Amino acid sequence: MPRASRLLPLICLLLSLCAPALAAQRGFFAMDTYMAVSCEGENAEEALEAAEARVRELEALWSATDENSEIYALDHAGGEAVAISADTEAILRFGAEMGARTGGCLDITLYPVSRLWGFTTGDYRVPPETELAAALALVGYEQLELSPGAARLPEGAQVDLGALGKGWAGDEAVAVLREYGVTSALLDLGGNVQALGSKADGSAWRVGVIMPEDQTNFCVLEVRDAAVVTSGNYERFFTADDGAVYGHILDPKTGAPVENGLKSVTIVGAEGKKCDALSTALFVMGADAAIEHWRTYRDFEMVLLTEENVVYITEGLQGDFSLAQGYEGLAVTVVSR
Ligand code: ADP
Ligand code: MG
Repeated sequence: MPRASRLLPLICLLLSLCAPALAAQRGFFAMDTYMAVSCEGENAEEALEAAEARVRELEALWSATDENSEIYALDHAGGEAVAISADTEAILRFGAEMGARTGGCLDITLYPVSRLWGFTTGDYRVPPETELAAALALVGYEQLELSPGAARLPEGAQVDLGALGKGWAGDEAVAVLREYGVTSALLDLGGNVQALGSKADGSAWRVGVIMPEDQTNFCVLEVRDAAVVTSGNYERFFTADDGAVYGHILDPKTGAPVENGLKSVTIVGAEGKKCDALSTALFVMGADAAIEHWRTYRDFEMVLLTEENVVYITEGLQGDFSLAQGYEGLAVTVVSR
């Protein structure tokens, strides 16, 4: 055997020991937002491709504006039942459950109202009271009828999964990465951050939460195997002729943009879907009710940022939370059980 080929296995071994872990990244636009995923591992490139494909598959099922989606079919069925996939059935069931859990603060049938405000198209306006009342009359997640493989809404009622679809897609993307053997990844699905494992060096992922005014992080959370999802009315809003600012998260009881003294709600938990649903719902609830919700359910942690820049964190985050540079002066209150 020639000398060089005898050395080859040794050279390969040395190279693999010296080379850094294979890191791969992928960015793409889906679900109306920019998504970025990075991960480590031998199959990283294939894993990222498969994760993106899964997100796109769910987007194709759930887009409220794509005429070929299952949600579009449900929204335009004129009161008839429509066939739906297992994925759609599962998220609709979960959306209704979270609606019940949050006393209707999350309502997946709010679409007729969001449309009136123009949040779905960008043609923003303040709707007249009469139109708002008519649209509100169509809202109510309890009206959604689900049976195996089928869903039905009363005529005129419409579902929009904007408040939890990204979180659900994040969980699915994480599951795909795991199937490909990935043990370390960070997914940023338009502000919904999901961490798989820890960083390749074993340290925790550091996830920032934004101060809306300057778009810099006011705090950092150290997480492993967790989702960090923030909702606030600064993400999508418009300014009306009278100078008033209206945000995209609406109170299902009034049909109006939420205005309750909170700038943002960040939920930290095991599952993206629950964190996403709760971040929207607890933003609607307001600080006091959100804290009560945490005390009742105990299946998540959170960071609240008020209009006065007062920060509340739940006690489970204490060791993993720090204020960012430039924000050391913020008042932080730890909420206990
Ligand atoms: P983002 O999608 O910007 O991360 P959210 O997860 O908070 O923010 O979802 C907000 C979206 O959910 C809105 O754009 C709208 O489509 C929908 N929505 C707004 N208010 C509610 C609500 N109270 N319940 C359910 N869906 C809502
Ligand atoms: Mg949400």
